[in-house]
Formats: sequence, C-alpha cells, structure tokens
Amino acid sequence: MHLCERCNRKLKSRKSIDVGMGPTCKKKHDADLAEVEFNKNQITIDEVMESKTA
Ligand SMILES: [Zn+2]
Repeated sequence: MHLCERCNRKLKSRKSIDVGMGPTCKKKHDADLAEVEFNKNQITIDEVMESKTA
C-alpha cells in the first residue's frame, strides 16, 4: 500500500505513487521547494551585500 508522504492518505493513481504524494500535496511540495530556493537566494544576496559594505 502506498501512502502520500505529506498527508499519509492512500495514493490511488500510478502517477501519484511514482511521485510519492497526491496531486494536491505535490503542488504544495513544489511551492515549498520554490520557497526554500527563494530564501536561499535571498540569503545569498544578503551575504553579497554584506561583504560589499564590510
Ligand atoms: Zn497528500
């Protein structure tokens, strides 16, 4: 039995099982990843700005 990684609900479709989560959770997961990536870039930019002013 395959369960969604995010909400632990049963995965019905083959595609969801391949992804490891349902379509709704996949969207949320992708949004989370985008946010993490965005925050990483923010930190990098801040570091660059700091090193310039220092
Ligand atoms: Zn889910």
